[in-house]
Amino acid sequence: MAKKQEQQQQQPKDHLAMSRTPEANENNDDWREKPPYRTTEKNDHFDKIWTAKCSCERVKYWLSRERPLASKYCHCRDCQSLHGAPFQWAAVFHKEDLHFEKGAEGLAFYNTADKQTHHKLPCKVSCAYCHTPIMDEGRNMVLMFPGIIKVDNPDHKKFFEPQCHIFYKQRIVDISDGKPKWTGLDEDSDLMEDVEPEDIEAVVGRDKVDG
Ligand SMILES: [Zn+2]
Ligand SMILES: [Zn+2]
Repeated sequence: MAKKQEQQQQQPKDHLAMSRTPEANENNDDWREKPPYRTTEKNDHFDKIWTAKCSCERVKYWLSRERPLASKYCHCRDCQSLHGAPFQWAAVFHKEDLHFEKGAEGLAFYNTADKQTHHKLPCKVSCAYCHTPIMDEGRNMVLMFPGIIKVDNPDHKKFFEPQCHIFYKQRIVDISDGKPKWTGLDEDSDLMEDVEPEDIEAVVGRDKVDG
């Protein structure tokens, strides 16, 4: 077990040693000691408001912030394929708002830009064992996937309700919820017109008759 952990810790170093550049000296193992991966001993004043676990329960984390900074649905192709779902639901938090029970242990990392399984930001983070998606880690923020956050009170579920849809141009389903729909990243792209519920029903109804 100890040997396995050692290997996991050395692996990112080897990858990065090949692509090291002068401006990329942040690319070492320091990230393991910083939020959100610092371990309990170094983080004992953390206020645990929300709890989340992956499917196999090997990965457990807490959030210290009641409401995310923002919440959105992403319809981009990457999210569709990586989540095996029509779109992704993500809630934005500061890295300091998040704390993993075992730090970076038991987590798998994937960088979509170079298609490598190392901790190079921005990257996708999942459980290394059951592969439950945990979050997208950016340079300053994390996008948590609220589906695994334990929220029992219906009033509290509203805290995580998305404000908008992003990359809606790449959608495979129409969502007629009246929320703003951006073609790409929000505020950095164009707003699209919402689809009227009658239009969706009309399409579905016609398909049913024809099929
Ligand atoms: Zn798991
Ligand atoms: Zn996306």
